[in-house]
Amino acid sequence: MRNFDLLIRGGSVVTHAEVRRLDIGIAAGQIIALEIDLNGSATETIDATGLHIFPGLIDAHVHFNEPGRSDWEGFATGSRAFAAGGGTLFFDMPLNSSPPTIDGASFDKKVAAAEASSLVDFAIWGGLVPDNLSSLEELSRRGVVGFKAFMTDSGIDDFPRADDHTLRAGMKQAARLNKVVAVHAESQEIIRAKTQQLLHARASSARDYLDSRPIEAELDAIARALEMAGETGCALHIVHVSCGAGIALIASARKHGVNVSCETCPHYLTLLEDDVLKIGALAKCAPPLRPKPAQDGLWEYLKSDQITAIGSDHSPSPPEMKTDPNFFKVWGGISGIQHTLPLMITEGIDKRQLPSPALVRLTSFNVAQRFNLPPAKGRIVINSDADLALVDLQQRQDVNSADLLYRHRQTPYLGRALTGKVVQTILRGQTVFKNGQIVSKPLGRLIKPIM
Ligand SMILES: [Zn+2]
Repeated sequence: MRNFDLLIRGGSVVTHAEVRRLDIGIAAGQIIALEIDLNGSATETIDATGLHIFPGLIDAHVHFNEPGRSDWEGFATGSRAFAAGGGTLFFDMPLNSSPPTIDGASFDKKVAAAEASSLVDFAIWGGLVPDNLSSLEELSRRGVVGFKAFMTDSGIDDFPRADDHTLRAGMKQAARLNKVVAVHAESQEIIRAKTQQLLHARASSARDYLDSRPIEAELDAIARALEMAGETGCALHIVHVSCGAGIALIASARKHGVNVSCETCPHYLTLLEDDVLKIGALAKCAPPLRPKPAQDGLWEYLKSDQITAIGSDHSPSPPEMKTDPNFFKVWGGISGIQHTLPLMITEGIDKRQLPSPALVRLTSFNVAQRFNLPPAKGRIVINSDADLALVDLQQRQDVNSADLLYRHRQTPYLGRALTGKVVQTILRGQTVFKNGQIVSKPLGRLIKPIM
């Protein structure tokens, strides 16, 4: 009879391809047995009858703002909220930390901060900005997961946007280094012209802000990034695509041989531009929330497997940065990382018959593949890390502020009735979250892509 540290019995295991009733045997943090009615004993046994077991979420897009702006969120609270939503590995964006992650020294500082307080595993994005082309190689050697560039102003002064010259040069280098370049694709020119026009007319409302960042600005930038990726042979990842038309451009370029992947976020799939008018600052983001046809398009492409990943783009700020009566001056960024899975279960699996393996591809499997993570991550197979989310697909919950684990208990989803609840999250065989409580000290390790 085999001996395990942990045995999970009776659950339905959801992989990228199928759902199967399997018991999971875990030793030394890894899955070592996967069988129906597994024969063995264990130090601890979990009865997962009635539960679905997902690979722990891998979120390729978070802003935890540390070091330097941990009063906005920080690794401790951000990673706990993520774990409460079934997350076991996040990729932190380079811009909101101070210093921004644009060279080897700033990378080291961020890793030290994350190792000290992150509950779960993490990977680090490097930045691509006009004056750091000579630092991309050392960032690559340190183990960044890729390089992030903004085609429009980032909102952070010490993370300037990459003009086309910088972006093209960065893509050439990234191709040589075998790294992905991620872009925030909105056209600086279109947004600047619209904004100046509106501000000249003393416009300051939420409606005016939406008008300053139209879909055409996003499509213009996506098209340009795709062209450069084709030209340079760089692997491109378009983050937070907000509309079906954006995915259409990407899908067509992919058909023509461009190496491109893309992400959308739960908020583009579950909130509409009218919600910005109703909810206000907590629903401000860039690109902004869109009208229903744009959202319907996203769901169509999601169901036909044209979208690579769902990232939360969790981007909180202190509440006082959300209060300016001029909507243009309000910090743009949505707090939502704790509810990615229940939002997608409610709106995807329940309402639109999205198969649960498709959700697994979007929230873990595809991310691990695209970013060349070690084979132990993003899969439920023998020898993979036991990174698991135990989910009750039927349990209902209302999002309320007492349950939020963010540093600042704000989110546009407050009051929303959701189906699906994460009951337990396991990182490398250790339970980090259970029945509403964080039950572990920080265990986070840096995960580097395979070179
Ligand atoms: Zn972001």
